[in-house]
Amino acid sequence: MSGTLILNASAEPLSFIPVRRAILLVLKEKAEIVEEHIEKRFRSESKDMPFPLVVRLVKYIRIPRRWRSVVSNPILFARDQYTCQYCGRHKNELRRNERLTREHVKPISRGGLDTWDNVTTACSRCNHKKSDKLPWEVKMYPKETPSEPRYIAIVLLRTRASGVQKRYIEPFMGSE
Ligand SMILES: [Zn+2]
Repeated sequence: MSGTLILNASAEPLSFIPVRRAILLVLKEKAEIVEEHIEKRFRSESKDMPFPLVVRLVKYIRIPRRWRSVVSNPILFARDQYTCQYCGRHKNELRRNERLTREHVKPISRGGLDTWDNVTTACSRCNHKKSDKLPWEVKMYPKETPSEPRYIAIVLLRTRASGVQKRYIEPFMGSE
């Protein structure tokens, strides 16, 4: 349980905040509760409130685009659902001596760049097999065409979210 998921007024997921802070926003009428815990309540000396799992800001706030598009493996693997884009195996299905890797669709040695539209998640076996070949040379094409995650922050949010919270994040994970 990693706190309360806070949504922008547009319903776009923003962050996780401590439950106490979420309650405060609700009391100040800056946010409203979208989902609350079925059983749990938030109790203090003076308050007995629903326990907010998801809140939404009343007013839209502009988010500066400060996430530069630097490729990192945690975000890459999350973008690709921790699944090798060539053989389709999930991280949990890999053998003990295998791991997920960053694979360059157009190899660096062939002029490819380390950019979101040229990197994909591959198991070490597939990465080795594809080596420095272009997709058509080895008939290996990533299942999903690589692209920059629409909201990099959201990809990371999802890894922290509980079941109910995930429903508010996933519609925003598309890459178009
Ligand atoms: Zn693979």
